[in-house]
Amino acid sequence: MNSFTFYNPTQLVFGKDSIEKLPQMIAQFTEGKKILMTYGGGSMKKSGLHDRIMNLLTDFEVTEFGGIEPNPRLETVKRAVQVVKENDIDFILAVGGGSVIDGTKLISAASTSDHDPWDIVTRKAIPESAVPFGTILTISATGSEMNAGSVITNWETNEKLGWGSPLVFPKFSLLNPEILYTLPENQTVNGIVDSMSHLLEQYFNEAENSAIGDAMIAGVMKQIMAAGKVALKEPQNYEARETLMLGATVALNGFMRMGYNGDWATHNLEHAVSAVHDIAHGAGLAILFPAWMKYVSEKQPARFAQFAEDVFDADSSLSEEEKIQTGIKGIEDYWTSIGAPSRLSDFNISEEDFETFAEKTLFNGPFGNFCKLDREDVLAIYQLAQ
Ligand code: NAP
Ligand code: FE
Repeated sequence: MNSFTFYNPTQLVFGKDSIEKLPQMIAQFTEGKKILMTYGGGSMKKSGLHDRIMNLLTDFEVTEFGGIEPNPRLETVKRAVQVVKENDIDFILAVGGGSVIDGTKLISAASTSDHDPWDIVTRKAIPESAVPFGTILTISATGSEMNAGSVITNWETNEKLGWGSPLVFPKFSLLNPEILYTLPENQTVNGIVDSMSHLLEQYFNEAENSAIGDAMIAGVMKQIMAAGKVALKEPQNYEARETLMLGATVALNGFMRMGYNGDWATHNLEHAVSAVHDIAHGAGLAILFPAWMKYVSEKQPARFAQFAEDVFDADSSLSEEEKIQTGIKGIEDYWTSIGAPSRLSDFNISEEDFETFAEKTLFNGPFGNFCKLDREDVLAIYQLAQ
C-alpha cells in the first residue's frame, strides 16, 4: 500500500428517525436562516418528502431550486449559483441522489467566488471556500453523500467530467432507508450496479497488498448482491433497503481504498458514453464493466482468479481460466438477473460513436491505475460491449 491519511468529516445520520434531526444538524453549521433547498425532477414532492422537510424548516427562510437533472448539467449549476449569490444563502440542503448532490457540490464551491464553475471542474480554478451544505439522500448508488467527488456534464462541449475538493464533503447526510421504497425498479437496479462498480473499481487496484480492502470489498459486494435481489422482489423490505443504502455509502466513502486509488477506467469509459447519449450512469456501467473485465483479464489474469475466489467462492481446485470465467460470468449473470442492460446496442449506440468516445476518454492520455488503456484497448472494450 502507499502511505495514506484517511479523512472523512461527513456526519452520517442513519435510520428511520434521521430526517427529523434536520434542524439541529443545520444549526451545527450556521447561525444563519437562509437555506437553499436543491432537488431534482420532483420525486420528493410526489413522495411527500418535500412537505415533511418544509414542516421541519419552519424556523428557516427556504428558497427552492428544483430541476437538477440526472447527469447534472453545468447550465443548471450556473443558474443555481446566481440564486445563492442573490439571496445571500447561508446553507444548502440537497435532497436527492448523486445528481442533485454532485450538482450541489459545484454550486457550493462556485458560489463563494467569481470563477466560472466549469473552471473548477477542469481544475483551472481551485476552490478556496464553499457554502456549507448537507444532504437528504433519496437514492442509494453513488456514495456522493459521503465523499468529496462530483461529476458534471457540459452539453456545450459534450464533456462529462469528475472533480473534487475536500471543501465539498457534505457536512452531514441523513439516510432513511424507507425513502428508497418509492424508487422505480430501474433506478434500484442502477443503484445496485453503480455501488457494485465502485467496489470493482477499487478491488482492481494498483497496490501490492490490499488484503484489508479485498476482504471488505468482497463482504460488502456479497451483501449488496443478496439484498438487491430481495429489494427488487419486495421494494418495502426495510432490511434489504438498509443494506443497499449503507452498502452504497461505504462503497465510495474512502473506506475501501485506504492506501491505493483503484482502477477507475470503466467510470471514464462510461462518462464518455453518457456525455454523448445521456444514459443512466448505472446502465452504462452494467454494459461496460463486463467488457472491461473480459479484456483486462487476459492481461492480468491472476487478480481476476483471486476475485472469483473472494466474491464468488470459486473452488481453489479450478484452473486459473475457469476461475476467471466464474468471476466475470458471476457479475454478468447477476446484473442480467436483476434486469440491467448488457449491450450498447440496447440504447441504439453504434460503432460510429466509438472514435468519439475513445477521444473523450483519452483527453489526459492513457488511463486506468490497475491496467493502463490506450486508444486500441479502449476501442476493443467498446467493441466487446457492442
Ligand atoms: P440520480 O441521477 O440522482 O437520480 C436518478 C433518478 O431517480 C431521478 O430521475 C430521480 O428523480 C429518481 N429518484 C431519486 N430518488 C427517488 C425516490 N426516492 N423515489 C423515486 N424516484 C427517485 O441517480 P444517482 O445514480 O444517485 O446519480 C447519478 C449521477 O451521479 C451521475 O451523474 C453519475 O455520473 C454521478 N456519480 C457520482 C459519483 C460521486 O462520487 N460523486 C459516483 C458515481 C456516479 P427526481 O429527479 O425527480 O428526484
Ligand atoms: Fe459511479
